[in-house]
Amino acid sequence: MKCEVCSQESDKGFLCANGIACSEDCAQILHGRLDVEYAKLKAEPIVEMPEAFTVGDFERWTLKVSLHILEGCTAATRKKLSDNNPMMLMPDQLALEIKDRILKHIPHQYVSSAETRGHMRIFHGGEYMFRQPVPQEVVVKAAKEAQVIQ
Ligand SMILES: [Zn+2]
Repeated sequence: MKCEVCSQESDKGFLCANGIACSEDCAQILHGRLDVEYAKLKAEPIVEMPEAFTVGDFERWTLKVSLHILEGCTAATRKKLSDNNPMMLMPDQLALEIKDRILKHIPHQYVSSAETRGHMRIFHGGEYMFRQPVPQEVVVKAAKEAQVIQ
């Protein structure tokens, strides 16, 4: 594998949420980059979003929503989240869950999934693509129906 930070080939890897590092030093740099990215997203309001979403926009927006949810949740909610599934306290994991829920409410004319066999969690961790950019009002409506935002 190749280190995300120094580009060195290494057979030892430190897996971070945003890539793989070759050493603890490089892993720290990677974590630092993630903190910067998270801080930027936290500073942006949730309502700030594009007119139409590409997959990249959707990934970024759902991560932003997750960060805001984790930032704003009470100790009680936090406890409930961690009792149900401690992974949900990690922004990237919560974002997966949120994406999953919202995608179920986006009409098929916009979204298709690699796994189409209809079980409850068809999208979780699975691939999806947008057939066309999804208008902002469609995403917002889906997010509200999924009770991700109010
Ligand atoms: Zn490195």
